[in-house]
Amino acid sequence: MIIPLRITAHRACPACATREDEKASRTCTACKGTGQVIHERHTHKVRLAAGLRDGQKVRIRKLGGPGKHGGTPGDLYVAVHVHD
Ligand SMILES: [Zn+2]
Repeated sequence: MIIPLRITAHRACPACATREDEKASRTCTACKGTGQVIHERHTHKVRLAAGLRDGQKVRIRKLGGPGKHGGTPGDLYVAVHVHD
């Protein structure tokens, strides 16, 4: 079973990073006051084993973010929601 998996990565809002005034951050148009902006959005096709149950967690290799000190990407854990 191969399914599309959409992944959105966030990062700290660059506009807010330089702001000292908290009120200004709340009205920031770049991040809408969340302090985070979308960094990347990808859709991966991932292969899942058949027979997964709803709520089951699966590990997808190499789709996680890089480690704190860089290096190779880690594994991504996702919870499965099964729809009939
Ligand atoms: Zn912002």
